[in-house]
Amino acid sequence: MEKEEILKKIDNAEMILVGLGEDFDENIRLQKSDVYKEGMKMLKEADCFHLIPAWKDFCALELQDLVTPALEKLKKMIEGKNYYVVATATNSKISKISWKQERIVMPCGNSSMKQCRNNCDKQIYAVSEEEQEVIRSCFRSMKRGETPSDLRTLLGKCSKCNAEMELNNIYAHQYNEEGYLPKWETYTKWLQGTLNHNLVVLELGVGLQFPSVIRWPFEKIVYFNKKAVMIRVHDTLYQLTEELSGKGYGISQNPIEWLTNL
Ligand SMILES: [Zn+2]
Repeated sequence: MEKEEILKKIDNAEMILVGLGEDFDENIRLQKSDVYKEGMKMLKEADCFHLIPAWKDFCALELQDLVTPALEKLKKMIEGKNYYVVATATNSKISKISWKQERIVMPCGNSSMKQCRNNCDKQIYAVSEEEQEVIRSCFRSMKRGETPSDLRTLLGKCSKCNAEMELNNIYAHQYNEEGYLPKWETYTKWLQGTLNHNLVVLELGVGLQFPSVIRWPFEKIVYFNKKAVMIRVHDTLYQLTEELSGKGYGISQNPIEWLTNL
């Protein structure tokens, strides 16, 4: 019954705001793998946190892909709508979905761009196919239990200050936010246009890792928009705040499972 109600709300919405949180990084499933955990240790010991999203992508190849079909289902559900997707997850599967152009922003970055460790030139560069293969080959040796000696120089050095290059994401030493800020501007403009519109806010798997990016602002948006509905799906943090009571649904379920079974 609730499910039908929710699908109807989505169907009747003029605008849809989607938040994809850390559950889309598949941490719970990855944590079950010793290879994954050992590799995380190696990355931390080498002070190479920026490789974490790439390592997660690599290790997730061993798992059955439940994320892509769930996201495809989501995309299909919102396809004809005026929507925007914000993801704090760094999973590359999210950027591979063919969302409407310019309607996805990943403020925590991912593993597709690189930057100088010191961010000396404030630039970001695409990671070449060749560099991706270098990373994969290093990860394959980590999978065999070997600790690579060249983890810090996998992406080469900065041509200006000679520091190591790092993947452009929130785990970089000096995260260069230029990678997402232009899109973030488009997003905030879009948000301003949601006021007084029939808006469905679909918050999926957003915990407390970066609450100021999705969770808290989404609550505020629903609070101030009289026509907004919040649909919050999370294993444990599914409750709606008191201010939002009667303005939505808190569903206690894994969001990937929820999408799959919709
Ligand atoms: Zn530099």
